[in-house]
Amino acid sequence: MRVVIIGGGAIGLSAAYYLQQEQCEVIVLEKGDLTDGCSFGNMGYLSPSHFVPLASPGVVKQGLLWLLDAKSPFYIRPVVSWQLIDWGIKFMRAATLVHVKRSARPLADLLLFSKAETRRWIESGIFNFEYIEKGCVMWYKTPEAEKEEKNLAQQAEELGLKVTVLNREQAEALEPAAQIRVRGGVLYRDDAHLYPNALMEQLPRVLENRGVHILRHCEVTGFERANGRIVSVRYRNNNAEESIEPDLVVLAAGSWSAQLARFSDEYLPMMPAKGYSFTIENPKSQLNYPCIFKEAKVALTPWPNRLRIGSTLEIGPMDDRIRLPRVQGILRAVQEYMPGIAADPGVRALDDPDLLLQRTWFGYRPLSADGLPYIGFGRKNRNLLFATGHCMIGVSLAAGTGKLVAELATGKPTSIPTAPFDPKRYS
Ligand SMILES: Cc1cc2nc3c(=O)[nH]c(=O)nc-3n(C[C@H](O)[C@H](O)[C@H](O)COP(=O)(O)OP(=O)(O)OC[C@H]3O[C@@H](n4cnc5c(N)ncnc54)[C@H](O)[C@@H]3O)c2cc1C
Repeated sequence: MRVVIIGGGAIGLSAAYYLQQEQCEVIVLEKGDLTDGCSFGNMGYLSPSHFVPLASPGVVKQGLLWLLDAKSPFYIRPVVSWQLIDWGIKFMRAATLVHVKRSARPLADLLLFSKAETRRWIESGIFNFEYIEKGCVMWYKTPEAEKEEKNLAQQAEELGLKVTVLNREQAEALEPAAQIRVRGGVLYRDDAHLYPNALMEQLPRVLENRGVHILRHCEVTGFERANGRIVSVRYRNNNAEESIEPDLVVLAAGSWSAQLARFSDEYLPMMPAKGYSFTIENPKSQLNYPCIFKEAKVALTPWPNRLRIGSTLEIGPMDDRIRLPRVQGILRAVQEYMPGIAADPGVRALDDPDLLLQRTWFGYRPLSADGLPYIGFGRKNRNLLFATGHCMIGVSLAAGTGKLVAELATGKPTSIPTAPFDPKRYS
């Protein structure tokens, strides 16, 4: 079977990994060079703790409160866009307690399954992307956030996850270099992290060694369809128009997937959500654990020789501008929660706005309308499989999604039920 995968991010490459193991002929079409997608500069968390879908009552309430604050981590660009309005209506409708309760188990199962698959990659001995299983801490400052997080921790335990609640003294002992200023936190012990840049550098190499064709700088521009199937995928290779005949197409183009779905007469409500990060090499003050500041929504990931700091959710049609006040808001949060980290020379240097702009990376998270990924076949094309819409957890879900894609493609029973992620739920 010849499978054409559109998109060489973590999801597309993971699908290629498993499809190649099923003896498929795999061709990945990637419009860039595999170094600039969302799968690169992210925080690298594998987060079973993120079992609450983004579409939840808490996010809507917090988002509305933040809309007018230029330094806040949440922003909806006020532009007239049918796609944004349509997505927004569906997001608001989905953001109910019923949806959160219904989604927690399937999302937790997918997260745990995906983490187990990622561990198998490491155990295979062919990867070394600094995978570490030690957990992730949610730090909070206010009694309200503490109450909310402890409630979440209880739900996590009900789902079988391991959590440890930490008080202020324990927080200080856990992170001595940070001069931490929090009320306490919850350590989610099942979480892990990896260095995504290394993952995205090693995956293509492994795949190409195994015979997967990765065609860089090849942008898919349309499809030929006949009898309910995609019979040809058109793409632009430099300036030449070319095409390829697939048996199966996997659409894994991250935030660009909605537009490509339209080319095939399918419908996926999706919105890009820009996020920023910057990385300090060889920091003098280092953390022991990855963490998220609950109120500020800022995340920090330590690896042996570097520290990455990231945040923000700028929802709206793509726009490559870096909004300096928001990136500065991330630094301000580090100052408020962890002055010891903020005082690190590498972090302090970023007080210079020019340097900060220069060092800031951004990526577009592919937001589905209900916070659950789209994994499964489309409605109008028998040979089109979606693997997209992974929101804030695409790295966490990459290995699991790839495995499910290969199982669906080859008609095998899936390792976990895929019905909650069926893309047809909106068409
Ligand atoms: C600041 C930040 C921090 C994050 N932290 C985490 C984290 O800690 N843990 C986690 O699990 N997730 C995290 N995420 C989310 C995660 O990065 C994404 O969910 C994930 O990278 C999405 O992967 P993807 O393969 O779907 O999309 P992408 O990585 O965006 O890949 C899609 C690819 O498709 C290509 N493409 C698009 N259109 C075409 C076309 N027409 N033809 C050919 N190719 C095309 C693009 O060039 C791109 O390379 C974070 C995101 C951000 C922004």
